[in-house]
Amino acid sequence: MSHEAAACAPARPDAPGRAAAARLRVPGRADRDGPRAPSPDALRLFAGVTADVWLVGMPGAPPEAIQALRVVVADHARWRELLRDRDRLRDVYDRTFEFQGMLLPSGVLLDANETLLAFTGVRRVQVLGKPCVDAPWWKVSAENVGLLRRALTQAMSGEFARQDLSVLGADGTQAHVDLSLTPIFSERGEPQMIVMEGRDITERLRTLHEVGVARAFLESVLENVQDGIVACDAEGRITLFNRMAREWHGQGPEAVLADHWSGKYRLFGPDGVTPLHGEQIPLLRALRGAAVKDQEIVISSDHRPPLTVLSSGGPLYTPSGEPLGAVVAMHDVTERKLTEQRLRHDALHDRLTGLANRALLYSLLEHRMARFRRQPECAYAVLFIDLDNFKDVNDAYGHIVGDHLLLEVAARLQQAVRQTDAVARLGGDEFAVLLDNPCDATQVMRVIARITREMRRPVRLSGHEVEVTLSIGAALADSAYTGVEEPLRDADTAMYRAKQAGKNGAQLFDQSMHESVVRRLTTERELREAVAGDQLRLHYQPVICLDDGSCTGFEALVRWQHPVRGLLFPGDFIGVAEASGLIGALGAWVLQEGARQLREWRARPELAHLSLAVNVSGKQLLAPAQPDERLLAFDFPPGLELEVTESTLIDTPEAGAHLRALAQLGVPLSLDDFGTGYASLAAVQRHPIGTLKLDRSFVAPLPAGKRQRAIVASVLTLAAHLDLRVIAEGLETPEQVAALRDLGCRHGQGYVFCRPVPAGEATAYALAHLPGRRPDA
Ligand code: C2E
Ligand code: MG
Ligand code: MG
Repeated sequence: MSHEAAACAPARPDAPGRAAAARLRVPGRADRDGPRAPSPDALRLFAGVTADVWLVGMPGAPPEAIQALRVVVADHARWRELLRDRDRLRDVYDRTFEFQGMLLPSGVLLDANETLLAFTGVRRVQVLGKPCVDAPWWKVSAENVGLLRRALTQAMSGEFARQDLSVLGADGTQAHVDLSLTPIFSERGEPQMIVMEGRDITERLRTLHEVGVARAFLESVLENVQDGIVACDAEGRITLFNRMAREWHGQGPEAVLADHWSGKYRLFGPDGVTPLHGEQIPLLRALRGAAVKDQEIVISSDHRPPLTVLSSGGPLYTPSGEPLGAVVAMHDVTERKLTEQRLRHDALHDRLTGLANRALLYSLLEHRMARFRRQPECAYAVLFIDLDNFKDVNDAYGHIVGDHLLLEVAARLQQAVRQTDAVARLGGDEFAVLLDNPCDATQVMRVIARITREMRRPVRLSGHEVEVTLSIGAALADSAYTGVEEPLRDADTAMYRAKQAGKNGAQLFDQSMHESVVRRLTTERELREAVAGDQLRLHYQPVICLDDGSCTGFEALVRWQHPVRGLLFPGDFIGVAEASGLIGALGAWVLQEGARQLREWRARPELAHLSLAVNVSGKQLLAPAQPDERLLAFDFPPGLELEVTESTLIDTPEAGAHLRALAQLGVPLSLDDFGTGYASLAAVQRHPIGTLKLDRSFVAPLPAGKRQRAIVASVLTLAAHLDLRVIAEGLETPEQVAALRDLGCRHGQGYVFCRPVPAGEATAYALAHLPGRRPDA
């Protein structure tokens, strides 16, 4: 560069940066290195502003340089002003937080500010006038120096350069700087110098690092959390879909506009079938400012079963309150929902057959009844269905086969009815069907016929063919019904009638059935009072020795002195007592009273020969509920006998053991109504029976009936062989008495001798018919 060039580039008073540089000591200063010509670069740069400094220190400066400088300093006022500016700026320059320096275009360091020098602990003289790249503070690493060299090369070629570098501090710490190297050009475009600025970014880097760590942490939490998290920006574009949410929605995190969410993600309401519309989607609600709390939705996608999630979230705002978008977190509750559903299903369905259970049937029936009240044209009907002889199947083939049969019946019932009808299992072998409108008697009978037809095919159960028949009762809708149990009760009553009528049939409920049930229930209630109170009586019918007409004993027959209906006979109430369980208490009373009366009689010497037969029901021979009703515990006085009917022996085989135990106690046993059942004499032999009471039906045809006569004769012969006493019952005429006596029967009972009478009359009869007299009949 020529000196003219420097002269022609006067310092610009409006360029304070350049003026500030004026105090720099230029290499080649006289007081240190001796008079020496300044380098042409220095001259060029400091032309104008540093001239007087230069002149003071450089008496031997080449004339052309002085010449050049002289040109500039000619304006003294301006020069002083510049110096003031320069000092002010120098202050700023030195005190700035940034590291600053100036380089010649060749890369030689002209100046470094106090900040840089103070941090690095380097003295100015150590570095000024030397290549910048050699400054010790860069020597953090070879790489650091290399990066600086590259940036310098770029700046020296006239381009702006920027580089993150490290600067070694005096205390060994490092500062990270964002270093910029800005080449400065003359008006003619020639490089004049390079301004070096280094902004300490240590803090920023640390912050960046911390933010990065926090972000990575957050992202990892978001990605690994088991909840789905979705966010969108203020325009509703999806901005976040964490891993769970992506998986659930079967989607990547692509931007989808809010308007399209519902089309894209198949979202449904809690029922899993009603599609969610835009304004119901939790994220959109949150975006509109709503606080979403536990909103239940179902997410459906092609590659997995539907998912039920609880969504909670809300809108997002910047600290200054600008809308930022919204975020929603979703918690998977599918498992819990399924469990709940299962529990609800189990609570309302029969475990074995999966049919509705009683609770569900009640609720459906309640609904139908309410509808019928509102719209009487919408009728309904209830069928009560009971399998005939199911117990036999269970007993014969076991419970597993029994269960299979129930399953098969359940399936066939469902086949026989419409979809809108409900089939329920009420327990055991009891089923019910709720038929929906239309439901008049004809239609109900038609359904029953269909059910019966379905049952006609035999059921194959583990190798056995089982015939299934049903007893069905039906009750039609009635406006008089107030509670669900009423139509069911009536259908049950009708079913009971069907059973009584011989099973495998159906009955439609009518009011008379209800009345008879009510009657039965009333009798039961009253009988309970009768047993507990003082309304039972015993009448006694004499047992006569046919040889001499004497009274050998009595049979006790219970009577009920009803406060309104008068004297009632066993046929009116024994059945009810047996069905209701009252028979135990009733039987115990009879035994007690009979025993008391017998003791009273036998206390009199002339009546000490009397016996008393008391009838016991088969139910009393099964394990009784109350200890005081136990026959075996009873203190039997001598002469007390028990009568059991033939049907008891047949129907309740369990009674056999009880009878043997009684016989072992020495209680004489009679078989009542012999000949009405199917007990053969051989069967009788298996039980400890001492007396046969020949039923009235054998006696009635005598003496005319030849066949009857032959039968009675053979019974009597066999009985004699088996050492059994025979008492003929129901003797009404002297001819019957004579015929039996001729056939060898030695004892009898009947109206011809005496009707059953109260104790007083019985006593009188016995006294009038003491043994040893001549027969009078
Ligand atoms: P049952 O043990 O065979 O008693 C005989 C029934 O025949 C009695 O009827 C009696 O009044 C009736 N009878 C007696 N002689 C004649 C006659 O010549 N002609 C006709 N037509 N009938 C005659 P009752 O008292 O009505 O008893 C009916 C049944 O009730 C008894 O039949 C017995 O099985 C049962 N019963 C009576 N008392 C009791 C009792 O205390 N406990 C139990 N469990 N059953 C009893
Ligand atoms: Mg009897
Ligand atoms: Mg009898």
